Amino acid sequence: MEKIELYDVVIVGGGPAGLAVGSELSYNHKVLLADKGEAGKTSRSWFVPLDVVDEKVMPYTYSGVTRFMTQTFGGADVSWKTELFDRYPYINEKTLLPHWREVMKNNGAEVLDQCAYVDSVVNDGIVTVETTRGSFRTRLLIDASGYDSPIIKKYAINRDHDYWWSVFGSIGEHPDGLNGMAVGDYMMWQTFEDTNADVSASMASGRPVFEYEILNENTSFSFAFYLRKERVSREVMEKEYMTIIREEPTTANFHDLKIKELKYGWYPSGALSQQLAEDNVVFIGDAACWTTPCGWGMTFILRNYREFSRQMSKLLVAGQLDKKSLLSVPHYKTHEKYEVLLNTIVTHFLSNAPAPMLDKFINLFNSVPKILCEKIFTLTITREEVHVMLKAMLAQFELMELVRILPKEDYLLVLDEVKYFAEDAVVDKMHEVFGFFHKTKAEPSGMNNGFDFS
Ligand SMILES: Cc1cc2nc3c(=O)[nH]c(=O)nc-3n(C[C@H](O)[C@H](O)[C@H](O)COP(=O)(O)OP(=O)(O)OC[C@H]3O[C@@H](n4cnc5c(N)ncnc54)[C@H](O)[C@@H]3O)c2cc1C
Repeated sequence: MEKIELYDVVIVGGGPAGLAVGSELSYNHKVLLADKGEAGKTSRSWFVPLDVVDEKVMPYTYSGVTRFMTQTFGGADVSWKTELFDRYPYINEKTLLPHWREVMKNNGAEVLDQCAYVDSVVNDGIVTVETTRGSFRTRLLIDASGYDSPIIKKYAINRDHDYWWSVFGSIGEHPDGLNGMAVGDYMMWQTFEDTNADVSASMASGRPVFEYEILNENTSFSFAFYLRKERVSREVMEKEYMTIIREEPTTANFHDLKIKELKYGWYPSGALSQQLAEDNVVFIGDAACWTTPCGWGMTFILRNYREFSRQMSKLLVAGQLDKKSLLSVPHYKTHEKYEVLLNTIVTHFLSNAPAPMLDKFINLFNSVPKILCEKIFTLTITREEVHVMLKAMLAQFELMELVRILPKEDYLLVLDEVKYFAEDAVVDKMHEVFGFFHKTKAEPSGMNNGFDFS
């Protein structure tokens, strides 16, 4: 009987995570990568902070964001040039991913397209992976199959606490020119009128945010994105996006947009990147929520892939592929809770805040050094800077307003930090307000309780 070949590593998923790690591991190990579609072909594109771009990735980046602008429906409008970084480069997905695939091929790895994962069984340290193109035996299975991982489902890994980003947009041409927009602009605004007067309804649904990035003299990437507990369907997103770019007065510059390519997808926003493993199985990329509250998935992949591969290679050589050993492999995380705190607050604001609060939020951004606003999104913020922002926030908002936006767990994060700089009386008041709200949250009448929080 023919003996089935034994691989060191089988990777399921040929997105950025699978290909990045595959390109590294295939230097020293026998690797097979299987993608249900075509490995290296994605409808996504990314901009990332410059500090995550190593010398291997740098040749596959181009231009980038140089100016950030925000605007709320209420009219507040601010813009600032990037100060800390000279630019946020774009990753050219049409060249970087095929390059990683080529590296794997040159290293002797096998990359199989139209090869979907079906099931897997671990027996005596060997994983048998069943796919639509046959069975493969491997010492280590790496799940890089993304947001809808069948392997996460198989192991019943609980993702109830995750939020999801749902994104729909297009690369488009502006036949009539950019109408005042400039190459390198990144604009983010709230698109819809504030229909969320009822706070509980706003917490349940929120609104999409419209963004655009100007790629060159006549091309933009514009999109609507949602942060929700559930994933918004493609149909719903497409309808709303088309209304936004064709009809909204605030998007007049886009009414004549010629759509060249649609881009959409879903990715987890997990609050902290997760380290997940089982015996002989390890999870990377969106499958493990290697991402941030703001969903910088590619950013985390680039931070992780080389060191992760180096450590994984050592374990393969040592034959230590049990769950405990695999979990010991460090990967970049936001180690400090305070690093994710403001990022988390921002995402709640973007999803849940009614327009008048967003105006205040923009005022807040205006009242602190601009560089802090950027740092929130890139997680390079120091504890002292977090405290500057929190102090400004407490000055800008009434406590009850914050309570309405933040879920309890995030309020506790705020409190942890506020304790470092606020007087005891302020901390006690926060406890009182948040405690009261969360106890009475189920009763709408509790909202109008006569408390004076000013
Ligand atoms: C429109 C959009 C814009 C984005 N912009 C940014 C940005 O600017 N900066 C940033 O850092 N991040 C951004 N992200 C997030 C980023 O794209 C993701 O976090 C990243 O792509 C995750 O990579 P991955 O390899 O883990 O998963 P994916 O890119 O989802 O790749 C998974 C791969 O696995 C394959 N697969 C799935 N199921 C199976 C199966 N059963 N069998 C075999 N193969 C399978 C798929 O075909 C796919 O090729 C954006 C996402 C979207 C949708």
